[in-house]
Amino acid sequence: MRQKKIHYIYNREMECMDFEERRELQGKRLRETVELEYNNVPAYRKRMDKAGVKPEDIKTIDDIVKLPFMQKTDLRDNFPYGLFAAPLKDMVRIQGSSGTTGKPIVTGYTKHDVDVWTEMVARAITAAGGGKDDIIQIAYGYGLFTGGLGAHQGATKVGAIVLPMSSGNTQRQITMLKELGSTMLCCTPSYATYLAETIREMGIKPEELKLKSGCFGAEPWTEEMRQHLEELLDFDAMDIYGLTEIGGPGVAFECMEKNGMHINEDHVIAEIIDPVTGEALPDDTPGELVFTTLTKTGTPMIRYRTHDICTLHHGTCACGRTTVKMSRITGRTDDMLVIRGVNVFPSQIEGVLLGFEDVSAHYMLVVDRVNSQDKLTIRVEVSEDFEFNDTKALETLAAEIKAQIKQTLLISARVELVPPKTIPRSEGKAKRIIDNRGTGF
Ligand code: ADP
Ligand code: ZN
Repeated sequence: MRQKKIHYIYNREMECMDFEERRELQGKRLRETVELEYNNVPAYRKRMDKAGVKPEDIKTIDDIVKLPFMQKTDLRDNFPYGLFAAPLKDMVRIQGSSGTTGKPIVTGYTKHDVDVWTEMVARAITAAGGGKDDIIQIAYGYGLFTGGLGAHQGATKVGAIVLPMSSGNTQRQITMLKELGSTMLCCTPSYATYLAETIREMGIKPEELKLKSGCFGAEPWTEEMRQHLEELLDFDAMDIYGLTEIGGPGVAFECMEKNGMHINEDHVIAEIIDPVTGEALPDDTPGELVFTTLTKTGTPMIRYRTHDICTLHHGTCACGRTTVKMSRITGRTDDMLVIRGVNVFPSQIEGVLLGFEDVSAHYMLVVDRVNSQDKLTIRVEVSEDFEFNDTKALETLAAEIKAQIKQTLLISARVELVPPKTIPRSEGKAKRIIDNRGTGF
């Protein structure tokens, strides 16, 4: 059942800290991180030397712009241990990226890093109403991917009962959810949708479950998707963000205001830059999110370019937190489709599709090049109660969606309606793009 809007805060001192005081703390920690990196990671020292910047040039947080960026390629080029700033004997964990975009990368955690990460997730779970009275079902994959273990550690930290299901085995997930009375669910939003739809199809009503909220992340999703999920399960569906390079899930999380994710600014500095020029962009302007870790000792990252597109917004939130909020991720720069010169993110298409009752949230985007022209096909399932044999109705629906896509995104797309349950379901991150152009972009 959806909760009353109460703002629970895990670490009031850090999350509600005075703005100036936090900037000072960030400046101090930034300097320490840069020193650590300069002294222990030759690859980054070389880059700083080339840019003519020394650790002592970093006096306040504003000096961050002097520092060179890091990228995913740095992790690949220095694979596996080249970016480790602590000796292997001090490391207690290695985690890796899920490899959504290419070769996997790994980062190392000292005991201190695991503790910091754990607290970040504990803050997220607390904001979603979680605590020692909860049973938290974790359906993120356990393994190198940070989702499963990250959620597990955070849930343990708040004193909840952890149900470490890992991903997949949908029927068993539902049995446990129902029989054990899990109160919270953690998984990707696409898997949550699949679970929720299956629950409803099995005739199970939300009131037969004890679910009150869920922390869903690891892939982009939309406000429309949240509404859909909340209607299906009558609970609070909260967004949580993170990436392996910066420590895993919990880098940012939503509070009950549900209008942006608070970034754990005592542990990271967030910047938004123009992805082309690298220049800083003001609040509320979309650009590429860049993170600097402030407390990581295993694999610190400086000005790491995430490729994720969003906006930042500073100010005090109605929940009492003073940390900067990031908007939903609208896409990744490397997930962006360029269709005849127009930039399109899958989430924009999802937003349009979910405005139609007669189609489901399951879709796939197929891009081909025909006679040197890009052709986008949006393949989407009709809803369960739509009469798939009614050709006329199908044509009308496809035409309506096409028109709405054209109006909202300014692109022409072919809309291919397919029967329910014909698009492969994902148990982890959904794969929504098939690009047959073979050129990359
Ligand atoms: P990858 O997917 O690159 O292999 P990770 O498993 O570390 O690596 O996933 C991190 C990425 O997942 C982020 O950079 C972002 O693109 C995406 N992500 C994570 N959480 C969210 C979220 N709440 N909303 C949108 N995207 C997210
Ligand atoms: Zn808030």
